Order: sequence, then C-alpha cells, then structure tokens
Amino acid sequence: MRYFDAHSHYTDRKFNRDRHELFVEMQKEGVAYVVDCFGAKEMNLGLSLAKKHNFYYMCINAWDHYGKDDLDINIESNVSLIDKLVDETVIKLKKLCAENKKIVGYGECWMDFRRTEKTPDEVRKAAFWLSKDLEVARKVGLPAVIHSGNADQESFDVIKKTDMPDYDFGKGMMHCYLGPPKMALDYIDMGYLISVTGLVTHRSARGKNLVEVVKQVPLTHMIIETDCPYLTPEPFRDRRNDSSLLKLTVEAIADIKSVSPEEVAELTTANAKAFYRI
Ligand SMILES: [Zn+2]
Repeated sequence: MRYFDAHSHYTDRKFNRDRHELFVEMQKEGVAYVVDCFGAKEMNLGLSLAKKHNFYYMCINAWDHYGKDDLDINIESNVSLIDKLVDETVIKLKKLCAENKKIVGYGECWMDFRRTEKTPDEVRKAAFWLSKDLEVARKVGLPAVIHSGNADQESFDVIKKTDMPDYDFGKGMMHCYLGPPKMALDYIDMGYLISVTGLVTHRSARGKNLVEVVKQVPLTHMIIETDCPYLTPEPFRDRRNDSSLLKLTVEAIADIKSVSPEEVAELTTANAKAFYRI
C-alpha cells in the first residue's frame, strides 16, 4: 500500500531528535509522499530536507516574511502598501518555486478563532487576510492549503466570494476539515478537496462529526493527512504523530465507506498527486 500524507509539520522541533531515522522507517511502511508545511523561519531546514529525501515535498507560506501582524492593525489605511506587498510576495515566491520544484503548495491560508474572540472587527480582518492568502496562491499558481479553525461559515464565505470557477483542478484543499458534512459537499462542488485527519478515529464530538463527513464525501474528492506532530489517531492519542500512523486513518475511512484499505490508500494518493501536480 502507498500512502500520501497531504499535510505535515516535520520541521517542528519535536522531530529534531530522530527525523532522519523516522523518514527511513516510514517509507518502509509505505509512506510514498509527504507534503510538509512551514513558514519563513523553517525555510532552510525544509529546503534541505527536500534535497535529501525524495518523498518529501513542501508547502510554504510567505507572509511571516512581511510582518503581516503589524499591518493587521489598520487595513484601510494600508491598502496600497498591502497591494505592493502582495506583488512583491508573488515575485519572490515565483522565483523560489522556479529554483525549488518541490514546492507544491501555498499555505496554510489561515482563518482561526480558537484563540481570538469572534467580534465583527476580528472577522473582517481575518477575512481580509484569508482573501489575500488565496490571492497570492492563485497569482503564484500553487494550490491553496486552507486552515479554518472555529470559522466554518466565515471561511466558507471568503472562499465562495473569491472563488474562480475556471481555475484548474487543484484550487484548494480544506486541511483538517471539521465543518458540517453539507458544507464539505458545497466545497467539493466548487472544486475543493476535503482533507481527513486521524481525528476520524476519535470518539469525541469532532471525531463523530468527521465520521459523518467521511460518509458523505466521495473518495474521489478526499485526501488524508496527519498534521503531525499533532492529531495522533487512536489508540496512540498521547503519542507524537507521524505519517506511519496514516494507516489507522485509512483503516477508519475504509471501515466507514465499506471498502478495502487498499482502495482508500490508492485513491487518496492519486487525488493528492493530482492536486499537488506531483
Ligand atoms: Zn497544520
């Protein structure tokens, strides 16, 4: 069986001790591809891992180069500056992508209210930055990896509003999808993929909701991810997660869909390869 981990964080310091050994081991267990996601601070480590390990690809977010948080204070009085930063970011990223063919995604395109209060003003600002992230992804020509935390409807509204119906397959994937099943189908209608994590093995409310999502989303529009070192599947919940545990997510999906684990692994691998154009 071949597994494709569509979203991971191997530049995380939790892997400093044994990254290399782990990569060797997990490839023996069938992990054929990982797309690792990081920002500017981890760029050098990510690029060196991509050089060393054939199965390792990258998804990057450029904004932390540019002090997005400083600009966040007043969007209205910084509109032309932000437009200039978008243009500069696009130029830099295009150059970086030309030099590094293993950069295959842009993200995480971010909207999250797990730690911020959801006031109208915060929603307006977060929606603005999500739309800018999506704009950068499209101008660079990379598929967008979208993170939505406690922001199901708010993210959906931005994505729907900025959707470009004629854009190629691979416009975006909903990383660690936890929204309602019906919304997942609406995303699929717009051409987005639904990415399922190990939470599908958990007996929590989130896990149960995700089981419903998996029931309704066709395998043709599903990919799988660890989001490691986070979101470890059961029964290893308290351990650090890594891509070798994807098989537990695959087994859970196979069980829910009444198909074989092989079919889930092969289809999600093919979907992720097409999405990231690998
Ligand atoms: Zn992540």
